[in-house]
Amino acid sequence: MRSRTIKGQDQQSFGDDPLAVRDTDHYKEEYVTGFVDKWDELIDWKARYASEGTFFVEQLKSRGVRKVLDVATGTGFHSVRLLEEGFETVSADGSPEMLAKAFANGLNYDDHILRVVCADWRWLNRDVHGTYDAIICLGNSFTHLFSERDRRKALAEFYAMLNPEGVLILDQRNYDALLDGKYGNSHTYYYCGEEVSAEPDHVDEGLARFAYEFPDKSRYYLNMFPLRKDYTRRLIREVGFPRIDTYGDFQETYQNTEPDFYIHIAEKA
Ligand code: SAM
Repeated sequence: MRSRTIKGQDQQSFGDDPLAVRDTDHYKEEYVTGFVDKWDELIDWKARYASEGTFFVEQLKSRGVRKVLDVATGTGFHSVRLLEEGFETVSADGSPEMLAKAFANGLNYDDHILRVVCADWRWLNRDVHGTYDAIICLGNSFTHLFSERDRRKALAEFYAMLNPEGVLILDQRNYDALLDGKYGNSHTYYYCGEEVSAEPDHVDEGLARFAYEFPDKSRYYLNMFPLRKDYTRRLIREVGFPRIDTYGDFQETYQNTEPDFYIHIAEKA
């Protein structure tokens, strides 16, 4: 749809044909340092804190959760939030850049020392020890897996690391609306940061390529797999979770009644 050479783009490597990049392993190259540094600008912690409110905290507390594994730590927003709420939290991610930023953020927010582990979801049990009452995979992270095999493998790893009554909380963008053209091409998707736009650059059943533009006009891309809501629910169910509740967006949505995000809460028993 759009191809402009703008600051930021050159730090990421999508090769000659960015639309052909449909590879689970590519996420590490997408979260390059420049983008990671800007990520907090993108997600605007204060606005995110306000829009999420106590949703996740309540979900966890109501189930008596004490030990949480944040498998998609990113820059640490939820890990820090959960530490503040008194949960015992381990922060995993497959990107060392993200974990370094998360660790620094933890120190900046009330001197929290994050327990970080660099681990890919597909081999989580190999690299992270122990079992947990809850696993969170938030911020539209699961979308980075490009093959069904990888999705099933990751979910099975999550399942195995949960205690018998554990809970998985996994969110995703509302790709159904995007794939079914309910937003229209001109719609700009805003994360909480009002200064930062995130808009689809290309969408088909196998790829959602989003462009993120920052106030300094730098532009970065993420290539993601557009998960349909019912498909994600089916995979979670098939890996062994007997009960899944799916919530619509708890955040303010723009211009329409479709939620921007879905949140799946899957109980192991
Ligand atoms: N949860 C954070 C948030 O909401 O701000 C970060 C979200 S960011 C969109 C996705 C994160 O998932 C990145 O930090 C990325 O490194 C991580 N990730 C993607 N694929 C992964 C994989 N296969 N294994 C481990 N981490 C992965």
